[in-house]
Amino acid sequence: MESKCVSGSCCQDRIDVAVLNVKQRRILIIVLVVNIATFLMMVFAAKISGSSSLLSGALDNFGDAMTYILSLFVVGASLAAKARVAMFKGLLIFGAAIAVAFVIGLRLLHPETPVFETMGIAAFINLAANLLCLWLLTPYRNGDVNMSSAWECSRNDVGEGFAVIAAALAVWAFGSGWPDLLIAISLLILFLWSATRVICGAWKELHPTEMQ
Ligand SMILES: [Zn+2]
Repeated sequence: MESKCVSGSCCQDRIDVAVLNVKQRRILIIVLVVNIATFLMMVFAAKISGSSSLLSGALDNFGDAMTYILSLFVVGASLAAKARVAMFKGLLIFGAAIAVAFVIGLRLLHPETPVFETMGIAAFINLAANLLCLWLLTPYRNGDVNMSSAWECSRNDVGEGFAVIAAALAVWAFGSGWPDLLIAISLLILFLWSATRVICGAWKELHPTEMQ
């Protein structure tokens, strides 16, 4: 697979957990738990604040959590089984992205200004969680390729965390919901792009002769 992080939500590459030691696996499990907690917090905050960028940001936490869960789950499985799991994940995160696109579409029809305070607090917790993951992974950034790709993804998540904070600040500064929707759509497009790449990669692995 040629897949290497280019930009945005790119934590979608499978991690080969089999080659990791106990300490590295433990770090990945902690990063997984942080992502699940952040995902739940973001969805809840998106609901009560009416912010779309929090919802798009939550997608990335969901995708990352799925990547870590499935990577831990497929240890020792055959290549074909791994490709099927990757396809399952690709379709699952693509479906989640379509659901978010639907919500954003509804909000475009009836734009409302999100509650800045709730949005800002959630955006800061999200950034703090992303920084925590980055800090946990930093000692491993130059070692094993799996750990360094997890570190790279976590660094991109910090960038995404800043984008959501910028959205919250712009909502406050302009008293409008449009900055929130614009950031939400940008994050969603990046996420859809990486979900599509996961599906294409898995398809190629499952049908090596058809597409080359
Ligand atoms: Zn990510």
